[in-house]
Amino acid sequence: MQKTVHIIGAGISGLSAAVRLANAGHKVQVHEATQQAGGRCRSYFDAATGLTIDNGNHLLLSGNHHALAYARSIGTEAGLVGPKLAQFAFVDISSGRRWLLDLGVGKLPLWLFDEERRVPDTGVLDYLALAPLLWASRGRKVGDAIRCEGTLYQRLVQPLLLAALNVDPPKGSAGLAGAIVRETLLAGGRACRPLIAREGLSSVLIEPAIKLLQQKGAEVRIGHELRDLVTAGERVTGLKFGADDTIAIGADNAVVMAVPPRAAASLLPSLKTPTKFRAIVNAHFRVDPPPNAPPILGVVGGLVEWLFAFPQRLSVTISDGDRLVDRPREELANTIWQDVCKAAGISGDLPPWQIVRERRATFEATPEQNALRPGPATSYKNLFLAGDWTDTGLPATIEGSVRSGDRAADLVLAMR
Ligand SMILES: Cc1cc2nc3c(=O)[nH]c(=O)nc-3n(C[C@H](O)[C@H](O)[C@H](O)COP(=O)(O)OP(=O)(O)OC[C@H]3O[C@@H](n4cnc5c(N)ncnc54)[C@H](O)[C@@H]3O)c2cc1C
Repeated sequence: MQKTVHIIGAGISGLSAAVRLANAGHKVQVHEATQQAGGRCRSYFDAATGLTIDNGNHLLLSGNHHALAYARSIGTEAGLVGPKLAQFAFVDISSGRRWLLDLGVGKLPLWLFDEERRVPDTGVLDYLALAPLLWASRGRKVGDAIRCEGTLYQRLVQPLLLAALNVDPPKGSAGLAGAIVRETLLAGGRACRPLIAREGLSSVLIEPAIKLLQQKGAEVRIGHELRDLVTAGERVTGLKFGADDTIAIGADNAVVMAVPPRAAASLLPSLKTPTKFRAIVNAHFRVDPPPNAPPILGVVGGLVEWLFAFPQRLSVTISDGDRLVDRPREELANTIWQDVCKAAGISGDLPPWQIVRERRATFEATPEQNALRPGPATSYKNLFLAGDWTDTGLPATIEGSVRSGDRAADLVLAMR
């Protein structure tokens, strides 16, 4: 029987649930509070650089199976581009040393046994020492499970876990770090090819989903913020968007709430959600990347962590960025530009730039906050949760978002 399903929030989680449900033949209505779909994964025109930029550089990996299936389902998998091989260029800007981590193309991490392909000055035993992350209990911190020092840590483990967890790795959840190691380093090069939405996040992951939904008869309402849930017994019976704007929810209908944790907790006060968040800082510089610049460069020994090369633009990501959110913008741009010059091997005055500080980019991936993540079911039989902050087993990522959206959609499909 065809159900009407209301999706609250048009970020990646909400859109993935919406696409799955529309493809299954259900009537879908998406309600997004802001004037633009995409949530924390969106593009916009930036007057300072004169370019369309993303709110943050987003990296996917070829092993992000749910995210890739989502892109396939909206016809844009080819818009996620990257090198043929799982190779990651790195530079240490304090010493000038450069290296290439080459994870190959296989399903097994055979690269570990090849001195030429692993991190310079590391041995197989250094990698085996990461094993405790794989069976760490939920309450453990990374710093309790492995030694957070030494060459391998500085050149690979720290950059990888900092990017994935968005907290200083020793304080991060060992369980979530284990999931990352399992799905990346241990899964072989086949799972680790870097993929980037080169034409922008919105044109690859957001707008095509909206178009597909509309083609399937779904309604996507922008600027339509859910203010309150109306409930009776074990069911949600209405959605209040404003004084004269309430939608009744019939007996067979369902709601997927795919909003960030603070909004979810205010709509559903009994809900337990993460309460602490971390910033990510991105800097964008309008400059032609040097020829042969890798699409993504790992940077250690400075403030910059990852350098992305886009047409006409070099962009920087700095995770766990709370320490930078109150720094004067001009000063920050200058400091970051110095690092960019060293990392990219270029020189010149500060070009047109933009700094984007997402204060609540992700929930804090510590064991304490991870323990506050709810599953998709709620105390209401027709209300399900999605979002990168729900208990996906992964840190806050696009892959986790899509998994949560798919899971909520599957629960709606199974609803009687
Ligand atoms: C700077 C930055 C860099 C990142 N880098 C990466 C990366 O490299 N790789 C990666 O995999 N992930 C990355 N992420 C994480 C990724 O962006 C998120 O995991 C993902 O976008 C979260 O999607 P979501 O749908 O769960 O939540 P959101 O994107 O937050 O979507 C929730 C939506 O709900 C809407 N909403 C809120 N309240 C209401 C209401 N009451 N009614 C209706 N709508 C409402 C919001 O406006 C929003 O559109 C990054 C995030 C940031 C911020």
